[in-house]
Amino acid sequence: MSGRVVDLLVVGAGISGLGMALMARRRGVQSLILEAGGHLGGAINSHRFETGEGLFWAELGGHTCYNSYGNLLQLLQETGQLDSLQPKQKLRYWLQHQGRLTSIPSQLNFPELLGVLPRLWMSGKEGRTVADYYGRIIGRRNFRRVLGPALDAVVCQPAADFPADALFRKKPRRKEIVRSFTGPQGLQSFIEGMASQLEIRLHSPVIGLERGEGHYRVQLENDAIEAKSVALAVAPDIAAGILAGSMPDLAAPLQEIEMAAIESHSVLLKADRLALPPLAGIIGVADDFYSAVSRDLVPDDHYRAFTFHFRPEVLDQTGRLGRICQVLGVDPDAIESQVGCSNRLPALRLGHAERVSRIDKALQGNPLALTGNWFSGVSIEDSLIRSDQECRRLFGG
Ligand SMILES: Cc1cc2nc3c(=O)[nH]c(=O)nc-3n(C[C@H](O)[C@H](O)[C@H](O)COP(=O)(O)OP(=O)(O)OC[C@H]3O[C@@H](n4cnc5c(N)ncnc54)[C@H](O)[C@@H]3O)c2cc1C
Repeated sequence: MSGRVVDLLVVGAGISGLGMALMARRRGVQSLILEAGGHLGGAINSHRFETGEGLFWAELGGHTCYNSYGNLLQLLQETGQLDSLQPKQKLRYWLQHQGRLTSIPSQLNFPELLGVLPRLWMSGKEGRTVADYYGRIIGRRNFRRVLGPALDAVVCQPAADFPADALFRKKPRRKEIVRSFTGPQGLQSFIEGMASQLEIRLHSPVIGLERGEGHYRVQLENDAIEAKSVALAVAPDIAAGILAGSMPDLAAPLQEIEMAAIESHSVLLKADRLALPPLAGIIGVADDFYSAVSRDLVPDDHYRAFTFHFRPEVLDQTGRLGRICQVLGVDPDAIESQVGCSNRLPALRLGHAERVSRIDKALQGNPLALTGNWFSGVSIEDSLIRSDQECRRLFGG
């Protein structure tokens, strides 16, 4: 890469990094994206099972996008993908409770609910954990038995200690767009459509960053690239490692942000081998898994798939498959194909907003952006909201 000075070097080809690069392009700034692995999309990972009837996709990571994802929709528009949205059916989530599947309302204690509902109008989310805020609104018992496990399923980790204001922040809906959607071959299609318009180098892990005269020197294992500006779109602990040598004051608060591990395991079955009615997914109550996300929302005549998101380090692969068969009520020979992967998500805690303010203060005046799913919330749209803010700070507009 000798002699080339990149306008914007983006580290990480997840949705935050791809979004940052496309938002910069909107402002006439060209970028180069460096991705450590061989997969585009990071936590967006639609596996394509090969079947006798062609490819059948199932989401191993992020799965649900809504018409309130304004930044995502704008990027899909700009990359010519808005016409390809596949609507998702409306189906219910079920609870897996004490060895059987039950509906969510059947587990709610209504007298407790009625007793505490008036507090809905008194409670603010600020400074409260999820357990404190929602426990007040719905009652401690209802929280423990129903809402707590459902929120664990939403953030794929124990949600009780999350800041309450990091979940379900209201975003305007684009009513002309279907409420919940995916791409023709899952969310990966969106990633592929975006990536095809960007310059990306795979298998290029960044290991360090130095500030030179008017530019950054980005260190790879066997190479270095000069860039006028840099965006780190990686997990906070990885960003901390990259910045440790050159900006230790910025690296320190990043290092404080915890990450939660998730073991995700997807199975493909012939539709006629399952007695379960179509469902959106299953929420594990005090179980080894947080959730099982179903492909039924985009139905298929021949196949069904479920991705179970397991607590880390509880079951090995054989144990996970055994638990999946129990919950789905099938024998192991009903599983046509399976695939697993490890995921990570930030474990946000009270005081996070102050930590982000400190980080933003340290970034002021630097042509260095930090983006990802660890600022205001962990969703795809939260990631893009941050990319948009950082793009505006660096390039205006
Ligand atoms: C199981 C699961 C279910 C989810 N469900 C939903 C959902 O339904 N709806 C929703 O909105 N969100 C969901 N999310 C959250 C959402 O998918 C993620 O928050 C979002 O995709 C994160 O994007 P990102 O780009 O910030 O990070 P990542 O996707 O983690 O991308 C970071 C990228 O950086 C790369 N990288 C790491 N280190 C380096 C390095 N040193 N050099 C270069 N590259 C590097 C990584 O390989 C990766 O590709 C889910 C997440 C998980 C894990």
